[in-house]
Amino acid sequence: MDCLFCKIISGEIPSTKVYEDDMLLAFLDINPQAPKHIVIVPKTHIQSANEINGTNLKYVAAIWEKIPQLAKDLSFAENGYRVINNCGSDGGQTVPHLHFHLLGGKQFTDF
Ligand code: AMP
Ligand code: ZN
Repeated sequence: MDCLFCKIISGEIPSTKVYEDDMLLAFLDINPQAPKHIVIVPKTHIQSANEINGTNLKYVAAIWEKIPQLAKDLSFAENGYRVINNCGSDGGQTVPHLHFHLLGGKQFTDF
């Protein structure tokens, strides 16, 4: 499949991995918007939040279950962090494989 994040999951395109298990991969964003900025993707191709359903929800649950641990590992759990999902063109989604941005290491003042 011609999907950038599927290629990162398969290893065809390199990434700096932060965490990986059978459900998800977390890697450094190539264009960080905060001192710490990782992208978390499910290890199955889900195009966007619009495609989340009862069958693939387990991947989303696995991601959210891991977010607090990743924040601890990245040392910003206590100060707090931001999780972002961009959906579709109006949402600013540029890679059509569901992903969550986990950003920390600064105080976000904008919405
Ligand atoms: P979005 O705009 O929500 O679709 O987010 C896509 C994100 O993927 C952006 O923050 C990009 O900087 C990031 N990105 C694109 N290509 C790569 C790559 N090869 N490795 C790591 N992050 C990437
Ligand atoms: Zn994909």
